Amino acid sequence: MAAVTSAVDPAAAAPLPSRYAPSHIAGNPAALTPLQRELIGRVAALGPRLAARAERHDREASFPFDNYDDLRAAGLLAICVPRAHGGLGADYATYVMVSAELGRWCGATALSFNMHVCSCLWAGEIADALDMTPAQRADHERNRTLHFGRIVGECKLYAQPFSEGGAAAAGAAPWGTLAVKVDGGYRVSGKKIFASLAGAADTYGVLCTLERPDRATGGSRRDALYLAVPADAPGVSVVGDWDPLGMRGTVSRNLLFDQVFVPETARLMPEGLYFQAASRFPHMFATLSPTYLGVAQAAYDFTVQYLRAEVPGMPPVKRRMYPTKQYAVAEMRIKLEATRALFLQNAREAGVDPDKDARMRLYAAHYTIMENANDICRLALRTCGGQSMLKSLPLERLYRDSRCGSLMLPWTAELCMDRLGRECLYEAGERDEAIE
Ligand SMILES: Cc1cc2nc3c(=O)[nH]c(=O)nc-3n(C[C@H](O)[C@H](O)[C@H](O)COP(=O)(O)OP(=O)(O)OC[C@H]3O[C@@H](n4cnc5c(N)ncnc54)[C@H](O)[C@@H]3O)c2cc1C
Repeated sequence: MAAVTSAVDPAAAAPLPSRYAPSHIAGNPAALTPLQRELIGRVAALGPRLAARAERHDREASFPFDNYDDLRAAGLLAICVPRAHGGLGADYATYVMVSAELGRWCGATALSFNMHVCSCLWAGEIADALDMTPAQRADHERNRTLHFGRIVGECKLYAQPFSEGGAAAAGAAPWGTLAVKVDGGYRVSGKKIFASLAGAADTYGVLCTLERPDRATGGSRRDALYLAVPADAPGVSVVGDWDPLGMRGTVSRNLLFDQVFVPETARLMPEGLYFQAASRFPHMFATLSPTYLGVAQAAYDFTVQYLRAEVPGMPPVKRRMYPTKQYAVAEMRIKLEATRALFLQNAREAGVDPDKDARMRLYAAHYTIMENANDICRLALRTCGGQSMLKSLPLERLYRDSRCGSLMLPWTAELCMDRLGRECLYEAGERDEAIE
């Protein structure tokens, strides 16, 4: 018997013309600002091109340079560069909605794009909300003018390699990558793992621990220093294989930094400021989840089109009339709408110094998006049935991509549960007496 390798038969009868109108990623568009509507629309216009390339980049585990050419041409590399620096000036809420729309078309592109955009948010909107001395503010303004200028004027791409394989990326230990102060700048040494955009970015935004010669023991988390390291600086290398389960187009290989010199203008935040930023703006750690809302939306859209026999290349066999299919798709829609509601709530309330309730809503939202995205993809595969899992269709890729979300630090599903459970039961400063 011949092996079935493809469900898509170009000679098959044409699918039924589609009357299905997919939902807006951010719910009711009337509730959005004009900038939000415009930027989400910009990504939606690029979407079909990105989706058409997703299968190849997934199969090859290759970086989607072509998608980045499109994002660049659409001006989107500067989405979160402040207007005063020539960017589009999108705030956190606007960006995460755009990110979800991008994830709908290509999860891997959305996830790696997030690393670039976060570099702009940390140095832009977040830094603006922090306490700085006038000297720090002036220093930061000088440095970010340089970096934003590269993004706006030269379309440079910035990555965000924070993870090191230990407790630092979980927020529980100082960074193992070290920065030593030298004449005119710093020397950076260390290793970062899972660096999305490895080999594609022009600059790596690296978190290091600033070594202080006046200190006998190692630094603390307060000594975190955020430095822009040019990809072509002597001592930078990209190492290791990349053949993962999902999100293969992120090409998240490892980076080595061997005594890499960077000048003082490499500071993406003044010394000592990253700790303040991370403590006061926790919503930044939830910027990974919008991608996965997009993946969930894509799985839902595919399921509806498949059951309606409206998937291009597939025979016009309807499956929607079976009550079990209707029940399953209703379950998917309920999960999707619940996920979207939490996503939008958190997008809109993101800001500096959220109170305890807002922080707990944030953990709950991030957890829900990551877990529900995978569950919606699971339901999609089970509901559509056997042919839908073939590699010629997107569902199996969406399923694999969706699995990655809840294992991404700093807020894996487990760490969200840990933090939430603790905060539910303890108020600040409370301790328990020892149990005999
Ligand atoms: C597709 C993809 C792209 C990525 N891109 C980037 C990127 O661009 N930049 C980046 O910085 N990272 C990136 N990551 C890395 C990601 O965020 C994680 O850091 C990485 O997946 C951690 O892998 P690990 O096996 O070391 O984690 P784990 O072993 O899960 O965790 C590492 C450490 O965290 C602590 N920890 C973990 N779980 C717990 C727990 N329940 N309680 C207490 N402590 C715990 C432990 O100390 C543990 O040793 C990416 C990951 C993926 C999958």
